Amino acid sequence: MQTLLALNWKMNKTPTEARSWAEELTTKYAPAEGVDLAVLAPALDLSALAANLPAGIAFGGQDVSAHESGAYTGEISAAMLKDAGASCVVVGHSERREYHDESDADVAAKARQAQANGLLPIVCVGENLDVRERGEHVPQTLAQLRGSLEGVGADVVVAYEPVWAIGTGKTATADDAEELAAAIRGALREQYGARAEGIRVLYGGSVKPENIAEICGKPNVNGALVGGASLKVPDVLGMLDALR
Ligand code: PEP
Repeated sequence: MQTLLALNWKMNKTPTEARSWAEELTTKYAPAEGVDLAVLAPALDLSALAANLPAGIAFGGQDVSAHESGAYTGEISAAMLKDAGASCVVVGHSERREYHDESDADVAAKARQAQANGLLPIVCVGENLDVRERGEHVPQTLAQLRGSLEGVGADVVVAYEPVWAIGTGKTATADDAEELAAAIRGALREQYGARAEGIRVLYGGSVKPENIAEICGKPNVNGALVGGASLKVPDVLGMLDALR
């Protein structure tokens, strides 16, 4: 299975900045065997990425409407992302769940809509600090996963992102990541049978060049979803080098 390094820019980079980032990457990028790279960018940046990313690097959105088209002012449809050249989209990021009250059912509807339009959904799950401190992180995350994958096909990526580790500099240990990734794999087997072995389970939360190899070296961790360290090209190159 190819490792996936998915870069979540969040609400950073204007189209001009996205173009500069892609141009800088183009001058220095050497593909790492066995590693897929995907840039998850604000929708307005997608045309700059389509025009300037090196060949073989995927890009996608950070959210998608649960609706096909119509009177949903401000929303962006899966068909629009697809037409802009996107191949994937993040759904259910903890920042969407927290600031936009997205429920598991909303996330599943968005993932289904992505798949219906030929986009690979990257479905995020993960517990808050209080849940971890109570020792309930495994059942809570699996319940969130089952709700977020309701009716969703096996052509999906799951990102385990403990909320307390996102953007905080606090990284879960590689063993913490593996504990949840293995539990997620078990839940995926229940839902998808043998196809679960081909579903990539990512870890996200303060991943950087210094820790990515250990985390992605765990048997059930098939890549990383990276926020802060995705913004500067040297950090991205450092992560790719660490995965070689
Ligand atoms: C994220 O945005 O999904 C994320 C994991 O952010 P960071 O790497 O900054 O913790």
